Amino acid sequence: RSKEKGRNRASYYSQSLHEEVSRRIELERELRRAAVENEFVLYYQPQVDCMSEKLVGAEALIRWQHPEKGLISPVEFIPIAEEIGLIPKIGDWVLETACAQLQRWNKNTAGYGDNFSISVNISALELNQQGFFAKVERVIEQYEISPQLLELEITESTLINSTPETAQILKALSDYGITLSLDDFGTGYSSLSQLQVYPFEVLKVDRSFVQSIEDNDDGALFLEAINALARVLGIKTVVEGVERETQKMWCQKLGFDRMQGYYFAKPMPTAMFEKQFL
Ligand code: C2E
Ligand code: MG
Ligand code: MG
Ligand code: MG
Repeated sequence: RSKEKGRNRASYYSQSLHEEVSRRIELERELRRAAVENEFVLYYQPQVDCMSEKLVGAEALIRWQHPEKGLISPVEFIPIAEEIGLIPKIGDWVLETACAQLQRWNKNTAGYGDNFSISVNISALELNQQGFFAKVERVIEQYEISPQLLELEITESTLINSTPETAQILKALSDYGITLSLDDFGTGYSSLSQLQVYPFEVLKVDRSFVQSIEDNDDGALFLEAINALARVLGIKTVVEGVERETQKMWCQKLGFDRMQGYYFAKPMPTAMFEKQFL
């Protein structure tokens, strides 16, 4: 009897594995189509100055506008796009679109001064791609953007497989004036050494820190320590994932530079962003 049960379970698993595999194959096929038909859209999430709470920039976050399934999160498709080699293409589109947007917004955001910046997430595969620096340079020139208003966000995990070339590219970008930002700070394995080795100007404190403030006292202690570290190194800070007023108040009390999170606004389409902020 128990043998019977085992066999059923085995066939159940192989069936669900089969479903998993076909789902994945279909997703890959659809993603290739999406890259050709360009079914992607950029959402923008505001970043505010910590003390004044005024808009100072936005992070560009990609979504896949699937014709039947609706909006698909980058968490679901970016890793697949990386695996099947679509990242250079998708990444080019993101960079180009965000820079075109930055040019338009900077013409219309006189009220914010000339400091409105856009952050773009860069995957490891883009960074190590031949000619990445030249591409950034071309886009900056084409859209007549001051390089420091383009922020490139790189996660700690991206740098795990870094090569000597990675360091050269980061240095070239930084020398050119691009702002480099270390994303999800504190979640990786080697946060501190990466700050020492690479020319980061901004550190994005992972949202797990601000979100643990209310759970235990350590959250606030870690935030305080991270902020002190950034100050000593002369690095600007952005706290990610601010969802509640108490969290906002902690960030202000500890003296971070910028904040980003649902408390202020969720990522939104261009038109909505313009309506709300410009
Ligand atoms: P990330 O760069 O760390 O982006 C922040 C993520 O946190 C976004 O998720 C954002 O919607 C979410 N978030 C913002 N505020 C809050 C908050 O208050 N609470 C919570 N719980 N979450 C918040 P999203 O848009 O799903 O993006 C997920 C990740 O996908 C990004 O993490 C980034 O690593 C990657 N990604 C997004 N767009 C791109 C892109 O254009 N290129 C590449 N290579 N990766 C991208
Ligand atoms: Mg990011
Ligand atoms: Mg992040
Ligand atoms: Mg992240």
